[in-house]
Order: sequence, then structure tokens, then C-alpha cells
Amino acid sequence: MDQQFQQEGYFGEFGGSFVPPELQEVLNYLSEQFYKFKDDPGYKEELRFYLREYVGRENPLTYAERLTKAWGGPKIYLKREDLNHTGAHKINNAIGQILLAKRMGAKRIIAETGAGQHGVATATACAMFNMECVIYMGAEDTRRQALNVFRMELLGATVVPVQKGQGRLKDAVDEALDDLVRNYKNTFYLLGSAVGPHPFPTMVKHFQSIISEESKQQIMEKEGRLPDAVVACAGGGSNAIGAFAHYIDEPSVRLIGVEPDQAPSLTQGVPSILHGFKCLVLLDEEGQPRKTYSIAAGLDYPGIGPEHSHLKVTGRAEYVTVTNEEVLEAFKELSRTEGIIPALESAHAVAYAKKLAPTMGRDQIIIVNLSGRGDKDVEQVYQMLK
Ligand SMILES: *Cc1c(COP(=O)(O)O)cnc(C)c1O
Repeated sequence: MDQQFQQEGYFGEFGGSFVPPELQEVLNYLSEQFYKFKDDPGYKEELRFYLREYVGRENPLTYAERLTKAWGGPKIYLKREDLNHTGAHKINNAIGQILLAKRMGAKRIIAETGAGQHGVATATACAMFNMECVIYMGAEDTRRQALNVFRMELLGATVVPVQKGQGRLKDAVDEALDDLVRNYKNTFYLLGSAVGPHPFPTMVKHFQSIISEESKQQIMEKEGRLPDAVVACAGGGSNAIGAFAHYIDEPSVRLIGVEPDQAPSLTQGVPSILHGFKCLVLLDEEGQPRKTYSIAAGLDYPGIGPEHSHLKVTGRAEYVTVTNEEVLEAFKELSRTEGIIPALESAHAVAYAKKLAPTMGRDQIIIVNLSGRGDKDVEQVYQMLK
């Protein structure tokens, strides 16, 4: 294998860091600090404390008995990230990074947000730790997600609408990176998914791995064995990599990432550099990142984390797509059968599990990662179904 690919921050040929030298210096320092603190006993204890007392972990691995009966196949278990404070997995990462920021002496946190979910998780963590919080958001996105802008402001954050470019997520990322280069002495960039230049994908995976650390122990307690498949939705890939992490070295466990059929980075993407790292990217005829669309705002990204890109090309994980209709059907079915309204993102995983179930036996087990709850999506689904 090429020497370069074995370096830190690479997953096969994917990952790395393709940024200007002044930003690279900042990232090198961040990387050094992350490796210094991640196994530090004091840091680990403080992280465990806030995950328990503030986020509400551990969350349950719920046996979905009625769904299992309805589908007639393997036992379906739901990992309940929807029960976390703020309603999704993103807070796991926000707390982990903000505790690191505190140790690095940062006084100011910045973040990018697309639909606003990561902005809200970051603003929440900043309120809790009394940090100044600046959220960059595409101007177009601030109009479409006015309520999330208000949520962030309620939590004490300043939301900066980015007018540049198309006024979307990509432009917000560029602004946040510029800010970091200018203000790195007192500022920490809290990135929201398992994407971006090293060390972000490694760091975000570290904080989201709590999902599979818990689920593995829980399934061993309940069933005395590993699951046959773990299914998770994949936007940037943070909930999926967290849900897969502790099973990657268990070859009997199938790992399945689910994408919207209108943003299939892993099924149709080609190796390319996006936002300072190499991954599978959806490109248009001109070789530019393709415009994607998903009914689930959190899955609307033309790239995917580098480790997923690697798991895809090596065949360790499978990546599939589902249609909007299948997602809406799953959204309704989980609500009706289990009394759990899932996030539209998470409904992608439920939709695929429904297709997978008839191919498996009754003695088998599927864990579906329920990345978040659907309260945020109820109005949108109402408008779509009306
Ligand atoms: C943001 C979000 C996602 C997508 O992000 P990943 O980094 O791919 O996990 C999925 N589900 C929910 C509920 C989200 O808020």
C-alpha cells in the first residue's frame, strides 16, 4: 500500500487533510490535543458524567415486539438515540468536543449548520458550558429553517447568515473555516459529522462510538449473542459510524448504511476531494459536487465520511438506498406499531430494515439505530401527506 495511505487520518485511500498551510497548523494542534486528552482519566470521567446527567445515557435498546410480529422475520431492536436530550445523537459529539475545547482553553465555539440540527446541539452545549457560540448558516437555509434559527438564539447563540455562494451548507463550512484560521487562539470549531479534514472524522467517530459500545453490551445481556445486522441512516455518516464502530471487527455482523435515493454518495459517488478530505462524492457532468435533495434535511450532503467510503470499497459494510415513499411509510408504521415517531433521517433505516427482514430467519436479530425523534418533522410530513 502507498506509504501515505497508512498515515494517521487515512482510511485506505480516503480521508487525509487537503487544506491551506495556515489551517493545517491549526488542525495539527487540534489533533495533538485530541490524542492527548481522549484517554485521560479526568477527561473520560467528566465526559461520562455529562453523558449520564445531561444527555440521559445510557439510552435503551428497545425490543420492537409489534414491529417484529408485523414483519414476521428476525427480532428487531431499536437503539434509542431519539431519547437523548435535544432528541438525537448529535449531542454526544457536541459534549465530547466542547469538553475538549474547554481543556484547550477556548472561550468561543463556532460551528456550521445546514438544516439547523447541529447548530441547535452546539448552542445547547455552549449554554450548558457558558461558552460564546457563533453558528454559520447559509442565508438560504436560515430562511427555510427560521424556527431552528430562533431555537439557537433562545439558547444564546449568534447565528450568522452566509450570503456567499449559494447560501447553503458548503458556504457555511467555508466561513467557519475562515473564522477558525483568523481566531484559532481562542476559538474551537465544533464540527457536526464524521466528515472534514483529519482529525474530525476520527474525533467524531470516537464520540459517537458510545452508541455501539452500549448496544453491544445491551444485546449480549438481552440475547447472549451479537446481532446479525446493524442498520443506520447515513448523511455525513456520524450516527452510522457510531452504530457500527464496535462491530467492525465482528465479521458475522452485517453493517448496512442507508441513503436517500436522491443523495446516494456511496452507491454512485466517485473518489474526490470535498471540504478538505477525500471521500466518495456525487459529481455532476462538470465534475462539481452534485446538488442533492432529501426529504430528510440531515441526509442532504453530496459526500460521506472517509471511513464509510473505505468500508464501502473494501466491502465490509453495505450501502443501500430507499425512496421517499418507503421512508414516509416507515415513518407512519413505526409511529403506529411502536408509539415512536422517528426522525425522517432515522425512518430511512427503518424503511430498509423492513425490506431486509423477509430475507432473514426468525432466530436472527437486526439492530436499527434510531438516530433521532420525529417531533421536528411532524409539520413537514403533515404538509406532504395533505
Ligand atoms: C443530522 C442527523 C442525521 C445525519 O447525520 P449523520 O452524521 O449521518 O449521522 C441523521 N439523523 C438525525 C436525527 C440527524 O439529526
